[in-house]
Amino acid sequence: MSGYRTEECVIVGGGLAGASAACVLGREGRSALLLERDLQLRHKTCGEFLSVEAQAYLAHLGIDLEGLGASQISRLRLYHREGQADAELPFLARGLSRKVLDEALLQKAVAYGARVVRGATVRSIAADEAGIRIDAEPFGKIQTETLFLASGKHDVRGVKRPASESINDLVGFKMHYRLSEHQRAALDGAIEVVLFDEGYAGLQLIEGGIANLCLVVSRNRFEHVGKSWTGLTEHIVRGSPLLAGRLRDALALFDKPLSIFQIPYGFVHQPEAIEAQGLFRLGDQMGVIPSFTGEGMSIALHSGCLAASMFLRHSCTGGDFHRKMASDIRRQVRLAFLLNKAARYGPGQSALFQICRTWPSLMRQVAAFTRLREGSMQSALALP
Ligand SMILES: Cc1cc2nc3c(=O)[nH]c(=O)nc-3n(C[C@H](O)[C@H](O)[C@H](O)COP(=O)(O)OP(=O)(O)OC[C@H]3O[C@@H](n4cnc5c(N)ncnc54)[C@H](O)[C@@H]3O)c2cc1C
Repeated sequence: MSGYRTEECVIVGGGLAGASAACVLGREGRSALLLERDLQLRHKTCGEFLSVEAQAYLAHLGIDLEGLGASQISRLRLYHREGQADAELPFLARGLSRKVLDEALLQKAVAYGARVVRGATVRSIAADEAGIRIDAEPFGKIQTETLFLASGKHDVRGVKRPASESINDLVGFKMHYRLSEHQRAALDGAIEVVLFDEGYAGLQLIEGGIANLCLVVSRNRFEHVGKSWTGLTEHIVRGSPLLAGRLRDALALFDKPLSIFQIPYGFVHQPEAIEAQGLFRLGDQMGVIPSFTGEGMSIALHSGCLAASMFLRHSCTGGDFHRKMASDIRRQVRLAFLLNKAARYGPGQSALFQICRTWPSLMRQVAAFTRLREGSMQSALALP
């Protein structure tokens, strides 16, 4: 086709899903072209809690979390106006900023042979029997048979995700803080989750002793507190003396918090959807699990590794991959979606809090059902 350059496979988006696919393809000698919108990777709205599954994928891809300075998290403290529940996590979690992590993975993809173009925004994609055509600015027009679509929650014209029954009236925020020495030491080793009206917040350390406060709140509650970050944090700390103490002498490290609107929690791409055979949807384009599970990044990494290895192993179609992914994550996303719904308002929150406080082992078991299964991971970690 005139005016188009031809590529064997293209990846749109250089987050964890896109970069992990590029690493696997590169390691097997396939030089994928990865297009990333941002010239320099920036901070992303994320709790930055790395589950054991995410750590396994990162180790498999050659990422040294210790060397990047990731914090260690072994305890969960859950706060509610009725009290506090404390539990040992069933694994050692890590905390690392997305800016550091995403950059490390993208550099790894380059080292494995991927061609990464930064500052290239894909404006539209046409995918039909004639193949896949991509219009990227300022890069130009590309024709390919295989596209790994890893643009996160951002939809691209021509291949938008269909509307689903997800909850999408939620707003997410993230702010980094330098805590006082005393508060930093008190937080060290734990993730502290605060339940408040129509939302929840998580506080944990990441690299360099920095604290990440990440929260999710309904749009309704956000409007109620004056649609401002100050109004929102004042509202939360009023009901949580612990968080108030943590933040009292803290220094905010961004001018304003990062935010994300209309998070489609509960979305899972329908494998029955009729789409071009060479289109593989990765990461948040495939499914969005509520953040409290701390499993979104591992699903993104799982999808990138699985898609690349299925493509290499059997020349599978996008449809085959979507069916496998849906069966790997549907149950987890569904359960987390229902828990998220239940914990949204006062009575549901109280009930969940009491269950967690009375039966921490039950809490661990339910949490285990929201995680990727070992069997699913083995097929993605296996070399093609
Ligand atoms: C509030 C909140 C808290 C969370 N906390 C956690 C947590 O603690 N632990 C956890 O495991 N998960 C968490 N998650 C989930 C996790 O952040 C996501 O699941 C994960 O980032 C998805 O990775 P991805 O690669 O699909 O998308 P992204 O990381 O969003 O990457 C997409 C990339 O595509 C690029 N892009 C977008 N559009 C275009 C375009 N048109 N052209 C070119 N490039 C494009 C973007 O610049 C970006 O770099 C959280 C999510 C939210 C909303």
